[in-house]
Amino acid sequence: MNGTGLWHAEQAWLGHRAENVLIDVEGGRIRSVEEGVPAPPGAIALKGWTIPGLANVHSHAFQRLLRGEIESGGGDFWEWRAEMYRFTEWDAADYFKHARFVFREMLEAGITAVGEFHYLHGHGNELGEALIDAAREEGIRITLLDACYLRGGLDGRPLEAEQLTFSDGDADRWARRMDQLQDADGVRIAAAIHSVRAVDSESMRIVSTYARERRIPLHVHLAEQAAEVEECMHIEKCTPAELLEREGVLGPDLTAIHAIHVSDHDIELLGQNGVCICACPTTERDLGDHVGPLDALARAGCSLSVGSDSNAVTDILEEARALELDQRRASGTRVVHQPEALLRAATADGMRALGWDAGEIRAGMFADFVTLDQPGGLWRELNPAYLVYGFSACDVTNVVIGGTTVVSQ
Ligand SMILES: [Zn+2]
Repeated sequence: MNGTGLWHAEQAWLGHRAENVLIDVEGGRIRSVEEGVPAPPGAIALKGWTIPGLANVHSHAFQRLLRGEIESGGGDFWEWRAEMYRFTEWDAADYFKHARFVFREMLEAGITAVGEFHYLHGHGNELGEALIDAAREEGIRITLLDACYLRGGLDGRPLEAEQLTFSDGDADRWARRMDQLQDADGVRIAAAIHSVRAVDSESMRIVSTYARERRIPLHVHLAEQAAEVEECMHIEKCTPAELLEREGVLGPDLTAIHAIHVSDHDIELLGQNGVCICACPTTERDLGDHVGPLDALARAGCSLSVGSDSNAVTDILEEARALELDQRRASGTRVVHQPEALLRAATADGMRALGWDAGEIRAGMFADFVTLDQPGGLWRELNPAYLVYGFSACDVTNVVIGGTTVVSQ
């Protein structure tokens, strides 16, 4: 990811629409961006719309196997989860092969960085390393969000048989295993608390302290299901977001995944602490989850991002428009979020949640950019609304990551 070269984009999104944009890249980062200049000899021409690379903030690569597999028979989230547990046993070589396929599919959808929320620890770090190796092989940036997962529920019940391999035994052993993982070119190691269900208060503090001492991103699944909130209220006498606040976990380095069943007080806490919320609308739809109050969260001060989560769908533009469209149906109003805000969720704010200097085409950032085009379509001025509502993963024609072309059609 240390490429050098010149790219000339017909139209590009630089926070505003620009034409004839020359992107000069050195050592994997953007050295300069110039608008309104003709293509110099040797520059690679990018026809169509060039935008910053898309951030997939929340993925479980192994769940890609479930696509189309459990769409009959009925049930709820918990029954889905029982089915999902059938897909958690892997050996490293198979997982590497599988992850390469999943990451290639993401690259072709214009995703330049993925956050892998990883809790398959049956072989120590072997499967985490398989994810890293697969990402490096394909050329996608990866933030490995290694999740601490210790118990079966808030009442302290033990793990179910299928969950045993997720656990390190305790948070100190989680930390020692984390110490064995290392950042590399295109690789960031980051921390995750699986959920308030799976991690007790003291262990939560160990994980968040670990993340903060190293200034690495911290992620947590938050209030996806009403049952988690009810159990938390019953046992801890507060909501999951209040519990995180009580334990000092909330902060601008925290990304909360889902945040669907949150109260007005939760929204206030999450907003005041500048927590990033990652919505995963296509997965949430697939699971029959409710629609979260993303508008209220954004107005309270949260940034937004999106993820493909179970990878039932691999299309970040679809996630961005679903974030809006689901709320239209839930609220009966239109344009809850402006298209620019949806694009920012899919790019700059998502990259920040994953710990990358990316998501914007400007000097100093990683040279990660994606070109989309609709062959045979009319020439059209680049605008975020048409991008979010009129384009999809299948319109991606070129992807550059760290100044290296990884998709070219
Ligand atoms: Zn998840």
